[in-house]
Amino acid sequence: MKDNFYEAKKIMCMYCKCNETAETFTTHVVNYKSCLIIVKNVPCVECVQCGESFFSDEVAATLEKIVNHAKNFLQEISVIDYQKAA
Ligand SMILES: [Zn+2]
Repeated sequence: MKDNFYEAKKIMCMYCKCNETAETFTTHVVNYKSCLIIVKNVPCVECVQCGESFFSDEVAATLEKIVNHAKNFLQEISVIDYQKAA
């Protein structure tokens, strides 16, 4: 994961189709069975205009891998740092 990924490629908002998006970080929480999988520091794109935030395809794919991996080691609460797991 390159630090300048979003600078190199401006992302259009998938909700209102504007180009005013800002890169930020979020915490992704998945409820799986009776367990919680928490992924911290996930890079996401937040729309300046409509305020919606979403993941790029690359991040969404990585996130899915991290969550699937965590499902194999189910603990009541799993806390994963995206920056270290990606
Ligand atoms: Zn928008």
